[in-house]
Parts: sequence; C-alpha cells; structure tokens
Amino acid sequence: MSPTARHPRRDPLARAPDLAATVVIVGGGFAGLACAQALGRAGVDVLLIDRRNHNLFQPLLYQVATAAISPADISEPIRRTLARYRSIRVIMAEATGVEADARRLRLADGRAVIFDRLVLAPGSGYDYFGHDDWRAHAPGLKSVHEARLIRQRLLVAYERAAQVEDGELRRALLTTVIVGGGPTGVEMAGAVAELGRFLTARDFPMLYPDDLRVLLVEAGPRILAAFPEDLATHAAEALHDDRVEIWTGTRVTEIGPDHIVAGGRHVQAGCIVWAAGVKAAPVADWLGVTPGPGGRVAVDPDLSLPGRPEIYLLGDAALCMGADGRPLPALAQVARQQGAHLGRGLARQLKTGAPLQAFRYRNRGDTAVIGRGQAIFDWGRRRLTGRLAWLLWAIVHVALLVNFEKRALVSLQWAMRVATGQRSARLIDETGARSLPASTDDSETGADG
Ligand SMILES: Cc1cc2nc3c(=O)[nH]c(=O)nc-3n(C[C@H](O)[C@H](O)[C@H](O)COP(=O)(O)OP(=O)(O)OC[C@H]3O[C@@H](n4cnc5c(N)ncnc54)[C@H](O)[C@@H]3O)c2cc1C
Repeated sequence: MSPTARHPRRDPLARAPDLAATVVIVGGGFAGLACAQALGRAGVDVLLIDRRNHNLFQPLLYQVATAAISPADISEPIRRTLARYRSIRVIMAEATGVEADARRLRLADGRAVIFDRLVLAPGSGYDYFGHDDWRAHAPGLKSVHEARLIRQRLLVAYERAAQVEDGELRRALLTTVIVGGGPTGVEMAGAVAELGRFLTARDFPMLYPDDLRVLLVEAGPRILAAFPEDLATHAAEALHDDRVEIWTGTRVTEIGPDHIVAGGRHVQAGCIVWAAGVKAAPVADWLGVTPGPGGRVAVDPDLSLPGRPEIYLLGDAALCMGADGRPLPALAQVARQQGAHLGRGLARQLKTGAPLQAFRYRNRGDTAVIGRGQAIFDWGRRRLTGRLAWLLWAIVHVALLVNFEKRALVSLQWAMRVATGQRSARLIDETGARSLPASTDDSETGADG
C-alpha cells in the first residue's frame, strides 16, 4: 500500500469544525498583540487571527522603502512572539464579518469562530479618496510588499537615469513625489532626499545631485497639521535645507504611472508615494454600525462597542475620546496602551467579575523625523528639535519593537549607518531589471531582502 493510500490527502480547512475561544482577537498589530500578551500572562484561552503571519513595525517602513534596513528587521512572526503563552492559539485567516447576537466571527474561508468576547484590532489602510486606480501608481507605506515596491521603484529610477542621454528624462526619473504632508510623508521626503545624496555620492557618481528632486505635496495649508505650528515650521525649514520642495494648499487631481497633476501643474516622476488619508479597516460594515470620521467605530470609555459589552475595538479601528474630548490619534502608542489596558481588564473580569475600567491615554510625546538625524518632538509644553529630538525618537521607536533581538538588530544597523554611511538593503530583483529601460511596471514585487 502506498503511503498516500494509507494517509489520503485531505483539505484540512474543508473538514475543520468551527473554532471557538473565550477571547477572540482579530489583528496581531500593536493593539492586538499587547492585548493577547496581557491575556496570555493570565492564562486566558485566546484565539488570535491575522491575515498575515507576522507583526509589522509600520513606523520604520519608510526606512525599508529607502533601503536603510531590511523588511525582516521590522517584522516578527506572530506565532513566535506568542509562543511562550500556552493558552493562546494563532491562526492566519481573514475576518470578514460579525454576527453579534450569535457571537460568531465570520472568516473569508467560510468558517466561523464562536467567541465569548471579541476584540477587533484590524488597524487601518490608506484612503485614495475614491481614486483607487491611483494605488497602483502611488503605493502607500502600509505593508512590507508596498515598502519593497517603493524601494524597487526608487532604485530602478536611478539605474535608468544612469543610462539615459536625455537630460529631461533623467531629471524626471530622479524626481520623487510624495503625496501627503503628515508625519509619514515628511519622514519619507527626508529619507528619500538622504538616499539621493547617498546614491549620487557612492553608487552613481555619473549623476548630478542637482538633478535630484523630492516634491512633497500637501492639500492643507501646512505640513504636519497635527503638530504645533512652530515645530511644523522648523520641519519645513529643515526639509528646505535638504532641498525638498514643499507645495502646500495643493490638491492632487491625477496620478499616472510616471506623473502627477497637482494644482493644475503636471510633474513627471520616477517614483510616486502615497502618504495621504488613512481609513480604518471596514469594522463598521462588519458590525453594521455607522462609522465615525476615517471609518473608525466609536467606543465607550472602557473600549467596548456601545450596547455590546462583549465586543471591543482597539487601535486605528477605534474612535476613542481622549481626556480633552477629542479623538485619540491613530498612533502605535495609543494602540499598544489600549491593548495592554483591555487585556489586563478582561483577564481580571473573567477571573473575578470586576467591571472594566475606562481607558486613559498617557502621551509619551509625538515625533516626526525629518532626515539627516533631525526630528521634532512634541510633548505638550516640552518641545524639542534637531538631533536630541531624533535621539528621543530613536529610543522610543526601538523600545516599541517587538523583542530584544529586533531592538538590538535595528540599533546596530543605525549605528553602522552613522559610522559608515552605508545603506545595506539596496536590492533590486529581476522584475526591476526587466523594467529597464522601459517605464516601471506595476507587476513588480521587490526582492526578499
Ligand atoms: C508608514 C507609517 C508610519 C507610522 N509611524 C508612526 C510613528 O512614528 N509613531 C506612531 O506612534 N505611530 C505610527 N504609525 C501608526 C501606527 O503604525 C498605527 O497607529 C498602529 O499600527 C495601529 O495599530 P493597530 O494594532 O490598530 O493596527 P496594525 O498595527 O495596523 O495591526 C492590524 C493587524 O490586523 C491585521 N488585519 C487587518 N485586517 C484583518 C482582517 N480582516 N482579518 C485578519 N487580520 C486583519 C493586519 O494584518 C495587522 O497585522 C505609522 C503608520 C504608518 C503606516
């Protein structure tokens, strides 16, 4: 008898019964992981569901996109992070809906998960304001795939620029447009300018630094709208020093594979990056409730869905009011604090029946990096700019990384970069090579590194 006859192959998902757990968590990002870890420490039965197998440290994605670090430095398999908690199971699957009365979470593969408590922490994505066709030409920085795609496009543009005779085409290829002047757009603009200086000095001495152009386009009256005006002005000046061009009060009306139209002006570009509006995952649809601004779902102070004390929302998906009565920002530190707070509260409640406490956010300071080891740091009355702000940013971000190994790795990479000026992750794969010298191809995927 052949081994296959003794052990006939079967599709495990086709026969798998519906899953069940005391606490079901959707999303292994900042919020979901922190919640799971707090519940795991108390031995609570948890099922964590994520459509990716890894946790991604999004704040450093722009460094992957600009070849400063590798994707693996900021990603960690969720199973690995949670391996020490014996009461936690992890599955890779996509949630698609909630039947609240039946306490069932629907999955894309047709299964359902029965829950006692449901924690929804699926984060957010970019909003293209009804122009979803722009996504292919102007990827956002939300996943490893997109960061690698941007890196590939940036590096391919330099390779092509080094091979063309036509000066106008060369300058177009060396133009990068970033749409959106929030922290991500500002960080990306500074990092692209830094990458350009590095590449022209080291890898492409035949290219003139004067041909490089980084354009940051913002529809609002100023960049960094969420920061105090003096810090935003400082950031704008630092970007000007880095030769980043800033167009404020300028709306983008068209994006193609190699150009944008903004404020009626046509700009040819080798790489376009989207860093504009953020939209919560479609949790409002799943729950059949009216979404708030940005698609977020309003929660009670204890982070539960109003009228549904067994369902909770965390992180970017939740519209949670701060002490000043304004919505808390979509930030990693908010998500993480909410996750840890709810996890501890649920563990206590399941054990003793104690009611959940209201969540109170402790702001540890908002930062944005402007490139060249420069940053701005806003902590209420305490405001910092320059290298010290960058150092604080680096400490806060390294501390937020999932485990010691990653913290050590990223710190080492940064130290090496400061010491040697090197950028270790400037890889282009075969799909990039195929796009030489024709225009960039949307089917590119990027290298593994
Ligand atoms: C480029 C960039 C830079 C940023 N920089 C900073 C910064 O400097 N400082 C800061 O504080 N914040 C920063 N943020 C914001 C911060 O990353 C988010 O606020 C934070 O990630 C939100 O955490 P979360 O747990 O809500 O969602 P996420 O961390 O996004 O995690 C959501 C998880 O849910 C999973 N998921 C989504 N949908 C489903 C589904 N249907 N089924 C199953 N799983 C699903 C996803 O795969 C993901 O793992 C940045 C964000 C970006 C994009």
